[in-house]
Amino acid sequence: MTPAVEPSRRRLLRAAGAGLLGAAGIAGCATSGRAPPAAARVLVVGGGYAGATAAKYLRLFSGQRLDVVLVEPEAAFVSCPMSNLVHAGQAGMADITVPYEGLARRHGVTVVRDRVAAIDVERRAARLASGPAIRYDKLVLAPGVEMMWDEIAGLRQAHADGRILQAWRAGAETAALRRQLEAMPDGGTFAIVIPESPYRCPPDPYERACLVAHYCKRVKPRAKVLVLDANEDVTSKGPLFRKAWAESYAGTLEYQPQSKAVAVDAAAGVVKFEFQDDVRADVLNVLPPMRAGAIALQTGLANVNARWCEVDFLTFESTVARHVHVLGDSIQIAPLMPKSGHMANSHAKVAAAAIVAELNGWPADPEPMLTNTCYSFVDDRRAVHVASVHRYAAAERTFRTVPGSGGLSSSANEPEGRQAWGWARSIWADALA
Ligand SMILES: Cc1cc2nc3c(=O)[nH]c(=O)nc-3n(C[C@H](O)[C@H](O)[C@H](O)COP(=O)(O)OP(=O)(O)OC[C@H]3O[C@@H](n4cnc5c(N)ncnc54)[C@H](O)[C@@H]3O)c2cc1C
Repeated sequence: MTPAVEPSRRRLLRAAGAGLLGAAGIAGCATSGRAPPAAARVLVVGGGYAGATAAKYLRLFSGQRLDVVLVEPEAAFVSCPMSNLVHAGQAGMADITVPYEGLARRHGVTVVRDRVAAIDVERRAARLASGPAIRYDKLVLAPGVEMMWDEIAGLRQAHADGRILQAWRAGAETAALRRQLEAMPDGGTFAIVIPESPYRCPPDPYERACLVAHYCKRVKPRAKVLVLDANEDVTSKGPLFRKAWAESYAGTLEYQPQSKAVAVDAAAGVVKFEFQDDVRADVLNVLPPMRAGAIALQTGLANVNARWCEVDFLTFESTVARHVHVLGDSIQIAPLMPKSGHMANSHAKVAAAAIVAELNGWPADPEPMLTNTCYSFVDDRRAVHVASVHRYAAAERTFRTVPGSGGLSSSANEPEGRQAWGWARSIWADALA
């Protein structure tokens, strides 16, 4: 537990012990229907791209008057964006880790290192894994994604045993996958298995394949990288990745579309597919289908195919639970809206503004906008980007991309590699500093 977080947590738990949690917040809001922000508490579940940004902007937009409590089990924020560079040996874990102290010290967010175990949307209370309950006026739920382990036979156990990793949440697994790659013999095979869309961050399996191939070319020149994709074709930046593969990784990297994995045999290092022959590899990086974070499912908010949470895009309020706003990768996306860190950061600002507006009795912004930029490295220095701007379309109650906005790189280049690091440091500061 970090020193800055500990006192906040102690204060909060003392309050819980004294039966005070929610007394200030819920009384005003529940009885009058419109609490002044000073009396209201917003509980943010999950301190990733969406939750951390929401916590900070709720404080900023309310003039520091809202009581904002962020519950997050991890000691620090570890970024998925840039984490593929760790696998390739081009960055260390410290380069992608940001403490939560800024939220607590600079913005007055109460950061609680715990996990939310249950949410009672009727009583507006969330129970922590450690026991106490926290009452809220508004809940922001941003738990990211959960892997659907049982969609691929044997994967749950292989993951639990640490034999087949995903590293699709940054942290300990990022470093562990790096160690597996370092231990792979020259002449060995790394295979990344991609699920059908939608999954977290469409271009990133292909970025990972590029960076592992780059590492292999430098350090294990006889090694191979297999990209086994359940989709019909590369799902994002296709021509750019294919160009990089042809120009830089011919003979090292092989791409196979329409390859849907159905089972793994971790002891044998084998993946089995719906139609194709089995594939054996020394390092298997098998990504199963994904869905909203477990707490969203458990709370009954994943009302789209029992996978994703539908929201009212004007405010990001859940369509099944009043006062619960769902953000980030957990939501059912609007057309052409990627599941990305930048998009999660954008969701958070729209939702924070809508929550502050509602608590003040103001109307929500009728035409919110979202932006997205996603960089992908094709080697240690060169990157490509895709960008888009999305505007709320009131008639359809969804977001649509703004015609003529956004863009795509023409080819991989070094200036964009430098800009990618600039983007990362800016968005980390925006969310957490
Ligand atoms: C390899 C890789 C590279 C990527 N590169 C990019 C990129 O270049 N650009 C980009 O924009 N996006 C990128 N992404 C996607 C980006 O990481 C995600 O879209 C983003 O993290 C989503 O934010 P989120 O807040 O929804 O989820 P997360 O960032 O995963 O945060 C969820 C948080 O909720 C916490 N949590 C979960 N359950 C609970 C609970 N019950 N109680 C309390 N806390 C809980 C988790 O511990 C976690 O900290 C990449 C993803 C990967 C895997």
